[in-house]
Amino acid sequence: MAFISANKKLLAAAAATGTLVAGYVLTRDGKTPIVAGVTAYSRFPPSADFPDLTKHNNHMSKVLTPKIYAKLRDKRTPSGFTLDAVIQTGIDNPGHPFIMTVGCVAGDEESYETFKDLLDPVISDRHGGYAPNAKHPTDLDSSKIRGGNFDEKYVLSSRVRTGRSIRGFGLPPHCTRAERREVEKIVSGAVDKLEGDLKGVYYPLNKMSDADQDKLINDHFLFDKPVSPLLLASGMARDWPDGRGIWHNKEKNFLVWVNEEDHTRVISMQQGGNIKQVFDRFCSGLKQIEDIMKKDGNEYMWNEHLGYILTCPSNLGTGLRAGVHIKIPKFSKHPKFEEALKKMRLQKRGTGGVDTAAVGGTFDISNSDRLGKSEVELVQTLIDGIDRIVEMEKALEKGQSIDDMLPK
Ligand code: ADP
Ligand code: MG
Repeated sequence: MAFISANKKLLAAAAATGTLVAGYVLTRDGKTPIVAGVTAYSRFPPSADFPDLTKHNNHMSKVLTPKIYAKLRDKRTPSGFTLDAVIQTGIDNPGHPFIMTVGCVAGDEESYETFKDLLDPVISDRHGGYAPNAKHPTDLDSSKIRGGNFDEKYVLSSRVRTGRSIRGFGLPPHCTRAERREVEKIVSGAVDKLEGDLKGVYYPLNKMSDADQDKLINDHFLFDKPVSPLLLASGMARDWPDGRGIWHNKEKNFLVWVNEEDHTRVISMQQGGNIKQVFDRFCSGLKQIEDIMKKDGNEYMWNEHLGYILTCPSNLGTGLRAGVHIKIPKFSKHPKFEEALKKMRLQKRGTGGVDTAAVGGTFDISNSDRLGKSEVELVQTLIDGIDRIVEMEKALEKGQSIDDMLPK
């Protein structure tokens, strides 16, 4: 990698100490300065740069030690992503009111290798002890699913989503504008080739009216505006809304988000409780998009150990979040509610997305694992858990105890 610096004083200091300092890092194409203002790290020891994490509660803050920081501080991925960029969101967001956040992002596929002394333990902490040499399974055969048609008195809507990243492009915290626009071009071009029930239209955000955008958000189809502090602190909201958009089919039950937290998010959803049908469509649509991508000469970021590579380490592996909006006013007030969800490997959110609180006893409940288990296993975990929750809600309605129905 080449470094250039406009600052003669820093260059002189570098020459004196035999280290390189940089004002700009050159990207792979050798032209574009993408990390303006890379600090002259060698002027200060890593200990002087160590962040204050005393009030923090996220996976990064639990794992990061002065020793790991010192080892990684001056490293860069080939495209110039740094440790400080990896952890910034976790520094600026000590905790989250509803979920345990990771506190790190990747800026490119190589981040997971360059910063593995931090990211491996973070991944292990987030993904139930996932080992650094483990292999991740993929299974998109939805015919293996048992059940998955919930009582619609409780389950209002069903959804399965994942993300996919395109190899060779910076991820949203770090991509250049040109990279982001190219990703948009590739993805919108690919989904444009889908046919039949999956035929749809791409709507770039910068050509959408505010009213249309608000309607899509309120109807739960579109990602929120860049208000999430997690998104803002990681650099993912840069240049908003440039290069962002949503594609969906006519039925609005198969959707692709472009350049929000990931290059792509692929979503299958519908009203009611038939998550089996949602997962069938998800698997079929996802495979069709991948085939088109391959034919167009594009590859996803993927490896045997981490599965599909996404921006947030919480989404590695399958990237899969299968969830329902479910009305459970009684069970959600039970003292064992949170503990039971954890034991069933489920996570709760508000129905307006990850940054919202639940109102009126209606929750978004989804699988909490993504890595080390296949798509089929995760959807089955969600189905079995929701079945049990519905049974418990019914028992509570009748005034019965649920003590022997709770997960052990
Ligand atoms: P993601 O993990 O896919 O980014 P978020 O929690 O950020 O999900 O939510 C994104 C949007 O998707 C929100 O508007 C949310 O209400 C909607 N959503 C999530 N799950 C469901 C569901 N089961 N039914 C309907 N809408 C959903
Ligand atoms: Mg989100």
